[in-house]
Formats: sequence, C-alpha cells, structure tokens
Amino acid sequence: MGGTFLKVFVILRLMELVDVHNHLELLNDLDHAIIRAKESGVKKIITSGIDHETNRKALELKKEYEIVECSLGIYPKDALKKEYEASGKAFKECDVEEEIAFIKKHQKDIMGIGEVGLDFSSENINQKEQEKLFVKMIKLAKELNKPLIVHSRKAEKEVLEILERENAKKVVMHCFCGNKNLVKEGALRGYYFTIPTNVNRASNFQSMVKEVNINQLLTETDGPFLSPIKGEPNEPANITVTIKEIAKIKGFDEKETANNIFLNYMRLFK
Ligand SMILES: [Zn+2]
Repeated sequence: MGGTFLKVFVILRLMELVDVHNHLELLNDLDHAIIRAKESGVKKIITSGIDHETNRKALELKKEYEIVECSLGIYPKDALKKEYEASGKAFKECDVEEEIAFIKKHQKDIMGIGEVGLDFSSENINQKEQEKLFVKMIKLAKELNKPLIVHSRKAEKEVLEILERENAKKVVMHCFCGNKNLVKEGALRGYYFTIPTNVNRASNFQSMVKEVNINQLLTETDGPFLSPIKGEPNEPANITVTIKEIAKIKGFDEKETANNIFLNYMRLFK
C-alpha cells in the first residue's frame, strides 16, 4: 500500500521534458550537462547533425548516452560555408548524394531529418542551390517517413512555399521567426512549432505560444544557442524555462503543459 502511494506520488511529481533540437557536440562538459538535464526531468534530447562531420558525431552521441536521440541533415550549404570561413575552420563540403545515402543507411537509428531548410541571412547566399538541397531533404524525409526539422532564417515565406509545393509531412518549424500570418499558415497545415528557451525574452515566441494550439507545440534549446540568459551557453536543463513560460502564457499548469508537449513528441517522432 505504502509502496503504491509512493509510486503515484513520484509519478505525479515528475515532469517529462523533451529537447527536440540541440547541437550537443558544441556543448562544453557534455557529461555534466546530461546529468543536469536528467535532474531537471528531461527524458529525451534530439541532437541534430548538419553536415558530414556532425552527422557522424550525432550518431556517436546517440550510442554514448541513453537519453540522446539524433536527427541527420544537411544545413543550407552556402550560409554554413560562410560561417565556417568566418570562424577560420576549414569547410569540408559534403557530397550531397553520398550524404543522403549515409542517412538512408542509418534510417533505423534516427528520429528525423534535420537540420535542413533555407538561410538567406548572409550576403553571398546561393538561393537556387539552397532550394534544390531543401527539396531533396523534404523528399528524403517523406521517403523515410520521418519528421523534418526545418530551419528558416530570413527565408520564412520561401520555406513555407516549398513545403507546400512538395506536400511535406511531419513538419517541425524550428525557431521560426516569420510573422503572425506565416505562423498561422503553418499551424493551419498541421505543422509543429518548437519554442526555444529564450522565449522568456523574445516576444515573437511568446506570441507564437498564444497563436499555436498546445497540441502542435514542442520545446527545444538549440543548445548552445538561444539561452534564456543572454550571453550564456544554453543546455537541455533549461527546457524548464520554456515549460514555465508556455504554462504562464496558456494559463495551464506546468506539469500539464510538460506532459502535453511530451505526448506531442511521442506522437510525432515514434
Ligand atoms: Zn540548430
């Protein structure tokens, strides 16, 4: 009797949290970040590959940590190339067809396709090339019947157009910064929207929480980026901040909010 009571009490207390988008290979002291994540109630973290090197790393991390799942993708190429050049790192351009074959080979080990999408924020973007690559990634996700984790920067309208044209399924709009009408459009199509941990200080994500039904919301850190505290590195344990914010805005209980979002994750990714 006492045992049963304790069990119910523990289940009621525990929240199940999920971080559907992260770049774990960029985190300092990952072992401790994983411990803190577990202590905060995080049950699953999806780390996203973006190129040849990080796709392999993502698969390694999935093997290394039970809590970690992974998604593989090819990030908008030219924008990435510029970032790499700026950071002084050598850019190893991946062979797209080779990488697609690699992703297909590992389809049983991955939760989704991503991070993929369009990024028109840098100066020398090659729009046509990016769009061609994005279409290939959408087709791949459909072929493998996996969710698509979509990045869109200064290209929100174009991203929505291509997703519609290609009849994309199981779409996750990661860190979407399009205007209210574009958010509405995506929500009407049944897309999921991830709310990042900087929702506590970013009004566009606060209005996204208001706009989108709780059944289409997910939580992410995009670690080490988008920290709830400006200038600090982000990590999965901070998902608690997002849950608090969503609960406050929606007028729901925190546990109810967390569990609803975890169910969304289960429904979409399983
Ligand atoms: Zn990301």
